Amino acid sequence: MNDYLKALANRSNSERRDNLLNVLREHHIEFTHHHQLHCGYYDDDWIENIVVSLNPNTASKRIVIGAHYDTYGDWATKEKSLGANDNASGVVVLLKLAQYLSENTKKPIDLVFFDFEERGMSGSLEYIRRVGADHIAAMINVDTVGFGDTIIIHHKDNLELDVFADLIPKDLLLKHDVVFVPYLPSGDAGSFVSAGIPTIDISVNPQKDIQKMNEIYDKSLSKEEIFTEMEKHLEVMKTIHLAENDNIEIVSHEAINKVYEFLKEALS
Ligand SMILES: [Zn+2]
Repeated sequence: MNDYLKALANRSNSERRDNLLNVLREHHIEFTHHHQLHCGYYDDDWIENIVVSLNPNTASKRIVIGAHYDTYGDWATKEKSLGANDNASGVVVLLKLAQYLSENTKKPIDLVFFDFEERGMSGSLEYIRRVGADHIAAMINVDTVGFGDTIIIHHKDNLELDVFADLIPKDLLLKHDVVFVPYLPSGDAGSFVSAGIPTIDISVNPQKDIQKMNEIYDKSLSKEEIFTEMEKHLEVMKTIHLAENDNIEIVSHEAINKVYEFLKEALS
């Protein structure tokens, strides 16, 4: 797994994608490569989502597990993040799930490595457009899971829905000491929420950050103000988007493994 992380934490989008595809090929995991021209505000570029479909011929709706593989870039300075915690960590979880679940699940699961999350969530929007919202039962977004000791879930109310109650029953949440949070910065999950698809966000945070996050949330600020406060006070925010600890050394394999073990139980 160490090698996966090194290969995936890379400032070049194309190299990161090539390394991701190489891991899939090495492990003989079948995938489809969706190409779509993106004509965006900033650029014309190809959106390249990578999809591993497990049990693709099942008639029931797909359960999507997503992790974006693109990384943050500063438009002014052109500097690119290494994307170690955000989100090579999540990509490693999905790669491990792809290996394990290809032999160990009967569920109709799409493991999707999204492109273009950091540019308007265009990758996830494109995936939904292509597959059709009607064919998607639920989405679990895995983002920034390499720093901290505690699995956190946003959109906790959705866990009451049948689709999630089956996958993630209460005893599984207890077993893995999962904590619910009232807010997370919007990512690919937002695209699925907008399409009316039941969605949860999974991330990992240090305990201290979770306390702080709840304090910030209790101040009933606007979403923008919450985000600014989080940037100021949360350790995890220093590990992403070119902040001071945006490096591979802060990523913990224990954190990644925690999320992997949790999802492995939920999805097998
Ligand atoms: Zn992210």
